[in-house]
Amino acid sequence: MNKTELRQLALDLRKQNQEFQVLYSQVAQQVADRFYQARERFLDGLANKPKRKKTHKYLSLVYPQKGWRLSGIRQVGRGKNKNKRKKARLHLSKIGFFTLVLHRDFPLEQVSQVCVKLYPSGRVCMVFLVEETETQKESSKEPQKAVGLDAGLTRLVTLSDGRFLDNPKPLERSLEKIQRLHKRLSRKRFLSKNRFKAKKRLAKEYEHSKHFRRDLFFKLGVLLSQDYDVLVLEDLGAQGLIQRGENKTRRRRLYDSAISELRACLEWEFQKRGKTVLAVSAYNTSRECFLCGGINHNLTLKDRVFHCPCCGFTLDRDLNASSVLLKRSGWVPSDVPAELRPIPPLPSLGLKRRQGEALKQEAPAFRRG
Ligand SMILES: [Zn+2]
Repeated sequence: MNKTELRQLALDLRKQNQEFQVLYSQVAQQVADRFYQARERFLDGLANKPKRKKTHKYLSLVYPQKGWRLSGIRQVGRGKNKNKRKKARLHLSKIGFFTLVLHRDFPLEQVSQVCVKLYPSGRVCMVFLVEETETQKESSKEPQKAVGLDAGLTRLVTLSDGRFLDNPKPLERSLEKIQRLHKRLSRKRFLSKNRFKAKKRLAKEYEHSKHFRRDLFFKLGVLLSQDYDVLVLEDLGAQGLIQRGENKTRRRRLYDSAISELRACLEWEFQKRGKTVLAVSAYNTSRECFLCGGINHNLTLKDRVFHCPCCGFTLDRDLNASSVLLKRSGWVPSDVPAELRPIPPLPSLGLKRRQGEALKQEAPAFRRG
């Protein structure tokens, strides 16, 4: 069956079944599109065979063209935050009204589709997809500055210019709380109301660490892409790395550091500014000497300082690795920085949870370049 037939099937099913009438017709068609895409990806060998999705795991709906209306946009906020926030009412056909907090300004007439997403914690997110005319800023000037980046566990990021960022370990930070909530959930009777409440509470905690992580990665991406033209990364297979981890703590920390997500976020920020990200082979980056290329085979994970057996060169382990990465990509690092210095706290990078209850609805406008 092709795309149109699938869409028609979705429409026919909607007509026959009373239950499916709660869906707006274009939304039903979009659900069919999703299945079509999943099948295409499977046939192209890109993904696994599409499975039947459980109802309680289907958490987002897309309004591809019509069926939504935004009204009553107004400035809100009190005191010094006066008129800093915008609220609006959004009507989604067959679902109803939502009050949103607008997080970004976007041209209303260019919105091509609206997605409503429900998080397991009960938070609702609206995503407005804005079609923009592609502005390809082909940077005419040659890339000037390059930096090597080594991702690790003790220090999340070490740059070849000597700057580093400590690993905030967002999951480990709230691990005690998560363990307590897991325990509480397991004691509730199956399908009881209290069980659902406990489940939401747990989901919220997980989302908190997830959002914290993403926020940090994007901020780091902005910082780096403002300073440098080329970013050199290790080409790591993060999944394999986790599976090969020696003990539970190390595996959890690897998982918590989300190295592939970090890479994706950094690449996104660099590409947005028309800059390049290079991935070089990760083989022996930590063991290779930055000065002479000699390899220290005895280096273990515990050694924080690299010591070259050939030329006697001594440098911090992560700093050496990031310099080696830069060297491998063909760039010559200007000089070896004498000491490490921390990246100053990124804007509003508070580790404390914001006081008060989080807002129920929000609307991050998603832009496609
Ligand atoms: Zn050496």
